[in-house]
Amino acid sequence: MLESEEKYRQVVSTTKDAIMIFDVETREFIEVNKSCEEIYGYRRKEFLTMRHTDITNEPQISEDAIRKLVTGKRYKIPLRYHRKKDGTVFPVEISASIFSHKGRKVICGIIRDITERKRMEEELKTLNESLEQRVANRTAELEMAYKRLQIEVEERKQAEKQIKHMAFHDYLTSLPNRVFFNDRLALAIAHAHRNNEMLAVMFLDLDRFKVVNDTMGHSIGDQLLYNIANKLKSCLREDDTIARHGGDEFILLLPGIKYIENVHKIARKILRAFRYPCIINNHEFSITISIGVAIYPNDGTDPKTLMNNADTAMYNVKEHGKNNYQFYNVIIHASSFNKMILESELHRALVSENFEVFYQPQVNINTGKIVGFEALVRWEHPDQGLIYPEEFLSLTEETKQIISIDEFVLNNACSQNKVWQDAGLQPLCVAVNLSVQTIQRKDLVEVITLVLEKTGMDPHFLVLEITENVAMQNLEAIIHKLNKLCTIGIQIAIDDFGTGFSSLYYLKRFPITKLKISQHFVRDIVTDQSDKAIVSLVIELAQSLKLKVIAEGVETEEQLFFLKQRQCDEIQGFLYCKPLPAREFEEILVQDKHLYCSGEK
Ligand code: C2E
Ligand code: MG
Ligand code: MG
Repeated sequence: MLESEEKYRQVVSTTKDAIMIFDVETREFIEVNKSCEEIYGYRRKEFLTMRHTDITNEPQISEDAIRKLVTGKRYKIPLRYHRKKDGTVFPVEISASIFSHKGRKVICGIIRDITERKRMEEELKTLNESLEQRVANRTAELEMAYKRLQIEVEERKQAEKQIKHMAFHDYLTSLPNRVFFNDRLALAIAHAHRNNEMLAVMFLDLDRFKVVNDTMGHSIGDQLLYNIANKLKSCLREDDTIARHGGDEFILLLPGIKYIENVHKIARKILRAFRYPCIINNHEFSITISIGVAIYPNDGTDPKTLMNNADTAMYNVKEHGKNNYQFYNVIIHASSFNKMILESELHRALVSENFEVFYQPQVNINTGKIVGFEALVRWEHPDQGLIYPEEFLSLTEETKQIISIDEFVLNNACSQNKVWQDAGLQPLCVAVNLSVQTIQRKDLVEVITLVLEKTGMDPHFLVLEITENVAMQNLEAIIHKLNKLCTIGIQIAIDDFGTGFSSLYYLKRFPITKLKISQHFVRDIVTDQSDKAIVSLVIELAQSLKLKVIAEGVETEEQLFFLKQRQCDEIQGFLYCKPLPAREFEEILVQDKHLYCSGEK
């Protein structure tokens, strides 16, 4: 027993923890060990005069803990703060137990100074925090670097794309450039070769663009080119390629051509698109375009030849008054070297009657009945098939062969009309186009009279369509001839009214019976305010001059509706019927077909 007490004392005095015993009632210290003195700085003697409350820094919490201890058994008290003699507050870990000693209830507390541990914990915490912060910073840095890298990669990709785009596109219009075009053309040729197809290359050059550029400045010139590029794009099919060749030149590739007529259509569509001015900064710029066409395989089987030949064709258009299109195979003969050959081909065509007259009905707008028809010439070329007047008339005007063509058409149209009338069909007027050269013939009246005599057609059934341009020369002589024709019953119509170069003076002087509204005005009649106004005005003008008025190029119900509303007398156009060879046209007359032509919406 003594031995164990001695051991106990030894443990108590050698332990590093402070051990203190105090009375539960009075809180007075009864015993403290050596470590208690060292930790708190009080001597044992001093302790024995003190109360437990003197060393705790949180008296209220200590009181609560003692109360709990009194009711329970051993109890692990959470971190506490005690005060030393010198006033230093330090963290302690306490374990306490309650027991009876000499009839009194006492508490034995074992107190461990955990200042160092706390410090280490704090240090560790700070270290951890700083480590976490550093990791977070580093992660953020890495994320930033990654993002920067991503942006850089994206920028590089964009730059590469841009460089590639620049290498193959025109900077101003963003259209493919020559390099790109050549590539596409080579591929398209290979494809056409494999599939036994045709393709067309068009060379386009703006007329008088240099004047705009020189007078209005390059900035306007550039904007104009940009607008024109868009205008051209809008005329093309999805598979077609348009490229800027440089300056005011563009090139088109039209693959998969089955019929040459489709190329004609696109060329005409482009020319039509250029009839309307481009508007830049409220200025109107009327620019026309000259187009040369080369067809694979007829005009070349490699890109270079096709491009050169389309270019040659384009130059030919320039020489022949610009604002038109031309096929290489047609003009090749017309170049100064071969012009004679084309002339002789045309001559041969006249001799062997390789021309054919097509007829297109003219219809009463209210009844939908055919009231007349127009004779339109076509050239049946032995190699190239049907050639439209637009392609050969300008050359025949230059060579004066147009006079023979007009005479041929007049003869045919009159004799054909007489045949139909003799066959018992309803008598109708035939309209024949006369060129300026024909009108200027001294023997015009005699020629026409002779044709009427020969064919036996009543002059009242003949309408001569002339253009305003006839009024530009020898006005008096022309008035004289027209009057003479009029007295024998022939009617005169002004074709393409409003598109020529003339004053309205001739309207008063010419014995006119009819005005023909050009298809140029009719085409956009539904959408274009100017065209609406012009057509309305021409109809009113004709009405007040007591002239008949006919609109040509009517293709849609909407156009017809508009014209009907404005009380136009007659219409001519694809909506009703396209120009047909005599045999087919006859069928329409025979059946007296009532083609749908209501004009109601
Ligand atoms: P034009 O006298 O104004 O003839 C009307 C033109 O419009 C014809 O073209 C006709 O096919 C076309 N047309 C008719 N309806 C429509 C339509 O709904 N839409 C479109 N887009 N076009 C339509 P074509 O036959 O090619 O004749 C063109 C021009 O050639 C004629 O214009 C006329 O000025 C001239 N021409 C034709 N035949 C002769 C002729 O025998 N002698 C003379 N001197 N000129 C002729
Ligand atoms: Mg006409
Ligand atoms: Mg016309």
